Amino acid sequence: MSPDVTQEPTETAPRPPRRWSNSFTKGAPKTPVWSAPDPALAAAGIEGEYVVARVRLVAMLLLLISPTYSLLSSRGEDAMHVAGFVVTLLSAGVSLAIFFRLRNGAWRPWIGFASSAFDVSMVSLALTSFYFVATPLNAINSTVTFEMYFLALVATSLRYDARICMVVGGLAITQYGALWAAAAASGDLKAVEMTMRAGPYIPIDLFTRLILLGIATLLSVSIVRRAQRLLYLASHDRLTGLYNRGHFDRALVSAMDQATRDKTPLSLALIDVDHFKQVNDQHGHAVGDRVLEQVADLMARSMRRTDIVARYGGEEFVILLPNTTRDAAYHRIEALRREVSDFPLRTDDGRVLRIDFSAGIAATQADGPIIDPKVLVDVADRRLLAAKRAGRGRCFGSDDAS
Ligand code: GH3
Ligand code: MG
Ligand code: MG
Repeated sequence: MSPDVTQEPTETAPRPPRRWSNSFTKGAPKTPVWSAPDPALAAAGIEGEYVVARVRLVAMLLLLISPTYSLLSSRGEDAMHVAGFVVTLLSAGVSLAIFFRLRNGAWRPWIGFASSAFDVSMVSLALTSFYFVATPLNAINSTVTFEMYFLALVATSLRYDARICMVVGGLAITQYGALWAAAAASGDLKAVEMTMRAGPYIPIDLFTRLILLGIATLLSVSIVRRAQRLLYLASHDRLTGLYNRGHFDRALVSAMDQATRDKTPLSLALIDVDHFKQVNDQHGHAVGDRVLEQVADLMARSMRRTDIVARYGGEEFVILLPNTTRDAAYHRIEALRREVSDFPLRTDDGRVLRIDFSAGIAATQADGPIIDPKVLVDVADRRLLAAKRAGRGRCFGSDDAS
């Protein structure tokens, strides 16, 4: 008898999805390719910039060994060795300056663009130096130096900004293409004395190199887009689309640092929906979920772009208000509470619900010089509890019930 081939395997191995496109990152919004990275990705980009600065510095110091050796052994009489040494020393100097600037916290949004354009331009500068100290064909036929373009293009993806990948990829293609055009205009690239020094001139190979640069650019853009979607899922709450607790905790630490440095007030509001269990008990969890989505939407829409609105857990939310005094935060959260309690929340079967919330507010300056994020949350939590005990549907911005 033949074995039963239709039998299902007893152990279930993970199956590939029926359609590959975006199935793993489903739920993350589609953003235009040409758009500034979201704050969480921008923060990862700052770390990436620092990683690239370190790698660049080590690479330049290692690359300095060979031209220094050649320069010393030729006693500075060979123009090609002098040029190689000067270009590498210049790059090492700039790498050192970028590294120390970043180490001292001097990051600016344009640094990613500038430093990756620098990497690509240094490769083009090295190729250009071959043009002058050897032959134009040496510049476009170079193998090892040309491949450094790919290192520079891969490194652009560590900035997590697709715009940088596109601009810098375009720059590499333009610079190498211009070098090719200049070499072609300089004379006969098929002349024997030229090909003896630099190998044969094969235009189709050079054209393929331009295509490869384009593919490397596309790949780095894809890496960034993928990271963007994964990071969105890692930092956002699936149900409400707000930031999640993990992202909030990190954002709170950096906002506290910033507020302490700039001596500006930072307020925090902890919000808990009142009697939410009753919504679930009376209408079911699906309706409860819809209510949470709508409340989250109201919160996100009525806060400023610089505020951070997050789902703290369950039916609890937290809002971080940078550069906002405790009094101003109190008035804004109270206005939000009125908006939420007046808003007719719609269930899928057409019923209308109204809900309210309680909130506790704390601030770095008004509540004494708080520098520990945990203390700020604890003070807000204590006031939230007091607001609940005082009857719910209210905001407390100080310990003596206001
Ligand atoms: P209080 O006014 O004291 O805050 O009362 P409450 O009922 O809001 O508080 P309680 O902690 O007793 O209940 C919170 C409820 O929130 C219980 C839990 O099932 C529900 N909940 C938490 N997360 C979700 C969610 O994602 N979806 C739904 N539908 N319910 C949730
Ligand atoms: Mg609760
Ligand atoms: Mg509650």
